[in-house]
Amino acid sequence: MRVILAQPRGFCAGVVRAIDIVERALEKYGEPVYVRHEIVHNRHVVEALKSKGARFVEELTEVPDGAVTVFSAHGVPQTVVKDAQSRGLPVLDATCPLVSKVHSQGKRYVAHGRTLVLIGHAGHPEVEGTMGQVGAPVHLVQSEKDVETLPIPSDAPVAYVTQTTLSIDDTKGIIAALKRRFSDIVGPETSDICYATQNRQMAVRDLCRVADVILVVGAKNSSNSNRLREIGIEEGVPSYLITDGDELDPSWVRGMKTVGLTAGASAPEELVLNVIAALRRIDADLEVSQMHGKKEHIEFRLPAELRN
Ligand code: SF4
Repeated sequence: MRVILAQPRGFCAGVVRAIDIVERALEKYGEPVYVRHEIVHNRHVVEALKSKGARFVEELTEVPDGAVTVFSAHGVPQTVVKDAQSRGLPVLDATCPLVSKVHSQGKRYVAHGRTLVLIGHAGHPEVEGTMGQVGAPVHLVQSEKDVETLPIPSDAPVAYVTQTTLSIDDTKGIIAALKRRFSDIVGPETSDICYATQNRQMAVRDLCRVADVILVVGAKNSSNSNRLREIGIEEGVPSYLITDGDELDPSWVRGMKTVGLTAGASAPEELVLNVIAALRRIDADLEVSQMHGKKEHIEFRLPAELRN
């Protein structure tokens, strides 16, 4: 059996920055540092930060007065920002700059008198954050079918923005449906789907050309990891999302010549190595190689108070 690793895979710049923020906050301010929601959707990352002194909470009411508080990479609604301000909590915002960019776009469209449509998944924290940042009602659509039932007149001025971690193709279909339904609609000049999501999706499509089965390392609640698995299925290759090597079912890979292995943007490389070790327990002669792919050089600056 051979394993081909997707390139790029795993951590994106937004995830690296978010983890850095928590680690540097712990170094600078000491423990505990409170983090609202999982800093990124990966249990392994969360547990590692917990062991260093981070405390994860779902709501600000769980944060004691005066405690250093970090907002997760997914972003937060304005109500949460205001709550933190009114309590005087020292906040470090780990919202990915590409998510913040979507917030700004949405606000701009609303300021220009447009009704905003957000393409995304209900219940995802990024979607809740974006809907709560815009300061006006936002219509969420999850599918082309949802577009038909939007309670907005067809000639109203409309704009759309999207969640950053969707499938490029699904979004295209929904945007096309929106353009058919509304005569005066605008959207961002370049897609909101972030560079990391796009690159990982393209890499998994390439991998599907040579792999008999695709394994995606990532958390079940990680949007971008789920999309990678769905792309594998769309391409006709059996595809599985696994947290680590313990979740690998040997029957998925037995008799397969080529296993394609990738990782979502919030999955650390050590979990990829953990899956390779699990595959090696199935086939001791496993060969491992890496696809040629796009090199990523994007880095995001840390908040000013944590630089140096
Ligand atoms: S997947 Fe994209 S939007 Fe999400 S944290 Fe990474 S770079 Fe930012």
